[in-house]
Amino acid sequence: MKVSIIGAGMSGLTAGCYLQLNGFETEIFEKHAIPGGLCTSWHKNGYTIDGCIHWILGSDTGSSFNKMWTEILDMKKIEFVNHDIRIEVEVKNTKDRHGSNVFKLYTNLDRLHGYLLDLSPEDKKPIDELIKSMRIMQKFDLPPVMDELPFVQSMIRGIKMTRYLEFLYWFLKLKNETNYTFAKKLKSPFLRESFELLYDGNEVNILVVTMPLSCFDKKSAGYPIGGSLEFAKKVEQSYLALGGKIHYKTPVKKILVEGDTAKGLLVRNDVKHYSDVILSASDWHFTVFDLLDGKFTNKHMLELRDLKKLEVFYSIVHLGFGIADELKDQPHFSRYPLKEDLILPDGTKYDRLEVHVYNYDKTMAPAGKSAVVVSFYTKNGEWWLDLRKNNRPEYRKVKKEFTEKIIGLLDERLGGIKDKLEMSDMATPATVYRYTNNWKGSTQGWLPGKNLLAPSPVGFTLPGLKNFYFSSHWNQPGGGLPIAIKTGRDVTKVICKAAKKKFSTQPKV
Ligand SMILES: Cc1cc2nc3c(=O)[nH]c(=O)nc-3n(C[C@H](O)[C@H](O)[C@H](O)COP(=O)(O)OP(=O)(O)OC[C@H]3O[C@@H](n4cnc5c(N)ncnc54)[C@H](O)[C@@H]3O)c2cc1C
Repeated sequence: MKVSIIGAGMSGLTAGCYLQLNGFETEIFEKHAIPGGLCTSWHKNGYTIDGCIHWILGSDTGSSFNKMWTEILDMKKIEFVNHDIRIEVEVKNTKDRHGSNVFKLYTNLDRLHGYLLDLSPEDKKPIDELIKSMRIMQKFDLPPVMDELPFVQSMIRGIKMTRYLEFLYWFLKLKNETNYTFAKKLKSPFLRESFELLYDGNEVNILVVTMPLSCFDKKSAGYPIGGSLEFAKKVEQSYLALGGKIHYKTPVKKILVEGDTAKGLLVRNDVKHYSDVILSASDWHFTVFDLLDGKFTNKHMLELRDLKKLEVFYSIVHLGFGIADELKDQPHFSRYPLKEDLILPDGTKYDRLEVHVYNYDKTMAPAGKSAVVVSFYTKNGEWWLDLRKNNRPEYRKVKKEFTEKIIGLLDERLGGIKDKLEMSDMATPATVYRYTNNWKGSTQGWLPGKNLLAPSPVGFTLPGLKNFYFSSHWNQPGGGLPIAIKTGRDVTKVICKAAKKKFSTQPKV
């Protein structure tokens, strides 16, 4: 049975691997010349600018996500870095009791616990509760892999799953807790300010803070040396080794439909490819409203389109720099307040700068030098898309001026880097859109925000359309690489069921 897949991002590649493992004959059609989609890096003047991964769930052995990655990759061959400190946040208005204005988010939970208690013994109760919630999370392997099992084994698993009631209890208890509501419980003004600033001043559900921390502590959310494109290429190699085919530089223009059934793809040069099943692993909005002309929707999807149910995740302005200095004493990831507010050309106001120094990955820069990234998340992605489309000279001018401004700020921050600057680069939401088609330049699909129990936005199928499936980071608010592989795996199960095949993760020899 033949399956055509749209998109060689991580969702398309992982789905492709699982489909090949299950005996389907698949081909991927990708508009770009390389694999990875958003999971990418690019090279300039001997430096590598990474556009994605800070951490991947499943980098340890034993966790559910590791089991999934291991089904399609040799994870043991990938070197992961586990940082001692996730981020150093400089606060503006307060100091800790030792006179420092830097909050360190340690990744080891015992160390974090000790650090927080040292800074504010009078906040013992909320601090203990916070750490306890993470320790409880660590007892559970999430998400549990729920493949079909023979009857007796499935009964045993059902009994074991009742343990997850404890997790459910904590989940429900914390469902309305945010970094802001948690901060309000704290007596220490320094800790209060620090927790409010953890997500660049945004209010997010506390689980957005605690879930990753519970994984960092177990060293199951590491950074892969070599960066994002190298990681994506490894998945691409697995897919090709399993017999898959990729057509690069082949944008899909339409999904061909006859009556109520998807039949094939119309691609570049109006070439038609017919297959038994179509799987779109590309942008949700583009798939539904362009490739299928909005003919297969329902009220829920129209409300999503009109942004009545969920917000689209931030887009990004991403500046890369190459500096002839090791910067080995700089924190790898920090955020610090600016003397004056910085207004992004799209109008978004920032009072802090986020700096990422890749001094822990020697592959990113020539020997003795460092790659540095400064990023700004923005909800105004469309401003950049419009400017690039309607006034290219102005778009270039705005980029140049903004880059100069950031070089000035970095020069102050990193102690005179202007003379050592060997490379600069600026990507905008228009770049994200141009290379990946993500709606409004979104970097992770839908925004989870405060409501982690938001309805699942997009299913694997579309109303009224047969032989068509959809899987990508748009299936689950928050997106990310683990969601890409999980949806790729889950959609394969659904396709197997429709084809009356038993889902398997073992290669068919
Ligand atoms: C700055 C940044 C940092 C991030 N950090 C992390 C992190 O630390 N950890 C983490 O887990 N995740 C992170 N993410 C999120 C993660 O990269 C994405 O959620 C994930 O890569 C999405 O994969 P996808 O395959 O679903 O979508 P995409 O990557 O968007 O892939 C879709 C693919 O479809 C192709 N396509 C689109 N339209 C067509 C068409 N018409 N014809 C042919 N091909 C088409 C695109 O070119 C693309 O290759 C980050 C993202 C960004 C941008």
